[in-house]
Amino acid sequence: MSSGGGLRRRADLGTLTDGHVQRFEALLSKSRVVTSPHDLESYNTDWLKQTKGQSRVVLRPKTVEEVSAIMRICSEENLAVCPQGGNTGLVGGSVPVFDEVIVSMSLMRNIIGVDPLGGTVSCEAGCVLEEVNSHVDKQGLMMPYDLGSKGSCQIGGNISTCAGGLRLIRYGSQHANLLGIQAVLANGDVLDCMSGHRKDNTGYHLRQLFLGAEGTLGIVTGAVINCPPKPAAVSLAFLGMEDYSNVLATLTTAKQMLSETLSSCEMMDNVCMEAVVGKLGLRSPLDRHNFYMVLETQASNQEHDRHKMDNFLRELFDNGSIQNGTVTSEPSKINTLWKLRERIIEGLSRDKEVLTYDLTFRHAKCYDIVHAMRERLKKHEATVSCCGHIGDGNVHLNIQADKFTDSLRAEIEPFVYDWTWKNGGSISAEHGIGLYKRRHLHRAKGTTPWLETMRAIKKTMDPAGILNPYKVIVDPREMADDK
Ligand code: FAD
Repeated sequence: MSSGGGLRRRADLGTLTDGHVQRFEALLSKSRVVTSPHDLESYNTDWLKQTKGQSRVVLRPKTVEEVSAIMRICSEENLAVCPQGGNTGLVGGSVPVFDEVIVSMSLMRNIIGVDPLGGTVSCEAGCVLEEVNSHVDKQGLMMPYDLGSKGSCQIGGNISTCAGGLRLIRYGSQHANLLGIQAVLANGDVLDCMSGHRKDNTGYHLRQLFLGAEGTLGIVTGAVINCPPKPAAVSLAFLGMEDYSNVLATLTTAKQMLSETLSSCEMMDNVCMEAVVGKLGLRSPLDRHNFYMVLETQASNQEHDRHKMDNFLRELFDNGSIQNGTVTSEPSKINTLWKLRERIIEGLSRDKEVLTYDLTFRHAKCYDIVHAMRERLKKHEATVSCCGHIGDGNVHLNIQADKFTDSLRAEIEPFVYDWTWKNGGSISAEHGIGLYKRRHLHRAKGTTPWLETMRAIKKTMDPAGILNPYKVIVDPREMADDK
């Protein structure tokens, strides 16, 4: 587990004192200021257990006023802050690198209101995605996105990572669905854009700035999110096929035949399947295949939906795209099948270390990175696998090993990033840049107007660089040579 990752602590940042802790306790009460080393452990450790910070304090505000007061103190004292949601992020962004003050949003979990006709939910940033979904479900609505981490990840974390997930192909990205935001800026000012209007062209769309900002521009405290109507009919096809060309053919057929009802199009290879079956004890509905796909439809009419799905499956058998497949419209079976896709990372990391790379390419190229990486690592004890949101051209390249030695890591990085850039891809489709990828972002984009504009925005919104330092952007105040 790395701590600091070869970085040095920025010398210009303040150091937490007993006096600061007392000020925080006066503000929040003792019970919401965590300082015991035992209790700090889980806040300092990321989900993949690959990064460990050394924060000496976690603050647990309950209101936007408290978040604002915290940021005023941190700004006055130049104390660095690491905002934390459900801590399910996969790029080392949610935990401190050194002794940053952790601001945990877990106690800000009120749902402010639902507008059934407008199709929106307003809530605080610490609400857990699954809980918000259950809440809007009662009003005939659904959240427009779904992630395997839904039981822990929070709305503020989803916004800050610009999370994609399982239904982007149908309902669009967070850019389409985030209708309002409330955020506390580095100096403690509250930016309130919670009107939640679907159409609102009054100047710059500031709320969009927080999508994918990973806690570097402000602390998100509230949001208004578009919620589509809950579908009356859902069907799910679980398919097995021989090779990647069959995956592409199936996607093409799905777009043609399921078209407006297609709500998810996922892929996993046999290594991923073996992990969820072998390590987690889940049951596959199919025999062994090289590739598997999960396709979901959401529609307003059960008969029509099922008819379309059956025709689709028949066509796939007829044109030879799939070797086997099963379709269900039963909610409990749909849930069980989804687990095979959602729990892949958990299965892969059950008794191995895992590195996972979240990449985007044109669809035809998506699996080439797996071949390239297998070839590169053939002399090492490492297993390469792939799953992902193939409908969106987004794959997760997973590498498992008993231990990632320096020499093994050196084979993988920067190769994986260079290969991705060279092949017209993106090194972050949906997980963000965080701590792990920022060097590679800078290596590729360091002197471009693109990165310079990001730096200028950061400087304007957080001139002292106290918000989630060492993440996304390399700050000139960092003393280590991080090029
Ligand atoms: P955290 O992990 O706590 O934080 C993530 C980043 O956001 C950090 O930089 C943190 O500083 C910042 N942050 C958190 N809350 C706030 C806030 N209120 N204000 C400002 N900054 C904040 N991601 C996908 O995109 N698609 C998937 O399909 C997907 N599936 C996953 C499946 C599993 C099993 C796991 C473990 C992760 C998965 N993820 C996925 C990654 C992760 O769940 C998402 O990135 C999620 O959006 C993170 O939310 P969180 O609340 O856990 O945020």
